[in-house]
Amino acid sequence: KKLTSSEFRQMFLDFFKQHGHMVLPSQSLIPQDDPTLLWINSGVATMKKYFDGSVVPKNHRITSSQKSIRTNDIENVGKTARHQTFFEMLGNFSVGDYFKKEAITWAWEFLTSPDWLDFDPQKLYCTVYPKDTEAQKIWLEVGMPEDHIVKLEENFWDIGEGPCGPDSEIFYDRGQENNDVAEDDPENFPGGENARYLEIWNIVFSQYNHLANGQYVDQPHKNIDTGMGLERVLSILQDAPTNFETDLFLPIIHETEKMTANKKYGENKADTTAFKIIADHVRTVSFAIADGALPSNTGRGYVLRRLIRRADLNGQRLGIKGAFLYKLVPVVGKIMESHYPEVTDQKSFIAKVIKNEEERFQLTLDSGLSLLDDLIQAAKKDHDKTIAGKDAFKLFDTYGFPYELTFESAQDAGLKVDKKGFDAEMKAQKERARKARGNLQSMGAQDETLMNLKDKSEFEYGVYEEKHAKLID
Ligand code: ATP
Ligand code: MG
Ligand code: MG
Ligand code: MG
Repeated sequence: KKLTSSEFRQMFLDFFKQHGHMVLPSQSLIPQDDPTLLWINSGVATMKKYFDGSVVPKNHRITSSQKSIRTNDIENVGKTARHQTFFEMLGNFSVGDYFKKEAITWAWEFLTSPDWLDFDPQKLYCTVYPKDTEAQKIWLEVGMPEDHIVKLEENFWDIGEGPCGPDSEIFYDRGQENNDVAEDDPENFPGGENARYLEIWNIVFSQYNHLANGQYVDQPHKNIDTGMGLERVLSILQDAPTNFETDLFLPIIHETEKMTANKKYGENKADTTAFKIIADHVRTVSFAIADGALPSNTGRGYVLRRLIRRADLNGQRLGIKGAFLYKLVPVVGKIMESHYPEVTDQKSFIAKVIKNEEERFQLTLDSGLSLLDDLIQAAKKDHDKTIAGKDAFKLFDTYGFPYELTFESAQDAGLKVDKKGFDAEMKAQKERARKARGNLQSMGAQDETLMNLKDKSEFEYGVYEEKHAKLID
């Protein structure tokens, strides 16, 4: 019997609970008192206060499943088997308690014991920091085959200011049929570019603190933080070729199929990618809005705007007419509600925000797309193979295409975009706007409309935050 996502998530938390960890709920995607991060991008990002000693946790062993957003992976979505912009990171943490020995032994037990995941040890590989002979020794002792231990210089985890140290990553061999480089390719190893070896778990032996001034100092107590991608392991457990053919995504994909005339997921590569992008992006924006973010022109809000518009562009590619993404919000809520009630709890507010953003973009989407197509056709014939900055700016300013959308479409067609020219146009426009004050910009007007959407009866973010903020200390 295949484990469901909920069963697997619970299994991970139970395993570490049995090993003395306290289970903490996921924190908000919006970093609290942390100006260094736009989004919570890992479990450890929520644990900084424990690792730097500013807060002492009740229990020094913690486990959680943390909602995470990574915008650096936007363009990987649908292209790789393993990336989303929103994912859950399962983690176990030791705040000055256990260290390498227990962390590796438990990881191995969870992965290979018949009582837990029961993975074949022959399918598992790990990478280690070359100087970290201690970790190498422990891996051998637990039973990792010697030729499955790969030494890699880059195995040093450092997210900027905060805790850091050598790490050890675990890979699952998805079999020869998943080779996407040749057998003799220098990238054909766990940790290389071959998708055959799926990175599932990163164990960080956190022994230093990276200070704001760039210095590394010893932490008074050594810590462990780990991150396992829930959807990646689920893809193995559910025999899914990618993270998307799992119970976390298929209901969203099937609902999307119904909105098309006759498109089917899996029928061809381009359509399949579009389905994946939509399913990914609707999860990300739903959870981000549930945690209090709103589409806007800057920062987090711009990420949401970009994701919603990118999803709509892909809906258009599947022949879906008009705003549609918002209709998927209840499906996302349903899939996730057993562990994360927040999307279901706020589904009508979230849908309203997304619909509003979609409708504005839909007004210009058709004409924007046909301009984009014209520009691409023209640039293909041009010997520079470049879309001019002023054209990219026109797409942005008149048709609401975030620069990145134009850039990606150009890239897919083997073209470039004149970014400098685009930036110059942007600067000139800001200059004009400054001069002509009071001249409402279209995007600014949108933000105001959005702000007015904060319908008290449905906007429960404040309540939610209050409910969860204190749980952790
Ligand atoms: P990759 O090399 O595959 O991009 P990573 O090295 O950037 O992954 P880590 O920062 O080590 O990932 O995060 C810990 C774990 O979280 C990874 O081992 C993986 O299982 C999971 N993970 C990371 N990024 C994503 C993503 N974009 N989507 C889904 N899971 C992810
Ligand atoms: Mg990555
Ligand atoms: Mg990696
Ligand atoms: Mg990693």
